Amino acid sequence: MNYFLTEEQQAIVDTAREIAEKKIKPVREKHDAEESFPWEIVEELRKADLFGVYFHPNYGGLGGHGFELVLVVEELSKACGGIALCLAATALGTFPIILFGTPEQKKRWLPDLASGKRLGAFAITEPEAGSDATATKCTAKKDGDSYILNGVKNFCSNGESAEIYSIFATTDPKRGARGISCFVVEKGTKGFTFGKKETKMGIRASTTYELVFDNCRVPRRTC
Ligand SMILES: Cc1cc2nc3c(=O)[nH]c(=O)nc-3n(C[C@H](O)[C@H](O)[C@H](O)COP(=O)(O)OP(=O)(O)OC[C@H]3O[C@@H](n4cnc5c(N)ncnc54)[C@H](O)[C@@H]3O)c2cc1C
Repeated sequence: MNYFLTEEQQAIVDTAREIAEKKIKPVREKHDAEESFPWEIVEELRKADLFGVYFHPNYGGLGGHGFELVLVVEELSKACGGIALCLAATALGTFPIILFGTPEQKKRWLPDLASGKRLGAFAITEPEAGSDATATKCTAKKDGDSYILNGVKNFCSNGESAEIYSIFATTDPKRGARGISCFVVEKGTKGFTFGKKETKMGIRASTTYELVFDNCRVPRRTC
């Protein structure tokens, strides 16, 4: 019995722990050695509703918050940090939409992210903009009802596997950090491709990719 957690939170921990023990442990070495994405574990997490623990029920979530997300990621990471990142990186890409998305944007993307039907990713880092994310060079130029994205992002966790990407780009380099905005770009959008896949020393079951934007047109979608 853990008196700190509610019954619901304890149930979330128990579910995540069971998946970690019974499903992740048997495959973690294989995914780590092969640097392969753990789709069979994504399926287990979907079935157990664990992608949805921090989403509002309006979007099909379980109604928790960041704490419930941490409980899940902690349990999964005890078995494999790389595999846990498929859920954690989806959350990272989802929070800009939860926090700042319009009602239309939330309705469009959150249900699939909450069910795990589509994975998310977050891309702010660039070759020359790591710790100093405000040095972002990726540009977003307004063109009628769209923005045109150009530039490169790197070290994107869930790269290639995710379908919904939160991309940070500057609309006005002269404004520094204040000129940076976030754009949701779906996999398959013309002008958005995947570059180099990183080979890493650890958390190798998580795919880490370069993202390339070459005149990628993103509709404003009431943003
Ligand atoms: C496995 C992995 C997954 C990642 N996933 C994502 C992702 O999903 N999305 C995403 O956007 N990014 C991701 N990143 C990128 C990550 O956010 C960056 O690596 C991080 O911001 C650091 O940037 P950098 O690697 O360019 O290092 P740098 O910024 O070049 O830093 C190098 C070193 O210099 C130090 N340093 C930097 N500036 C200063 C300073 N002013 N004073 C003192 N010391 C300083 C740092 O502490 C560090 O030790 C990922 C990285 C890794 C390794």
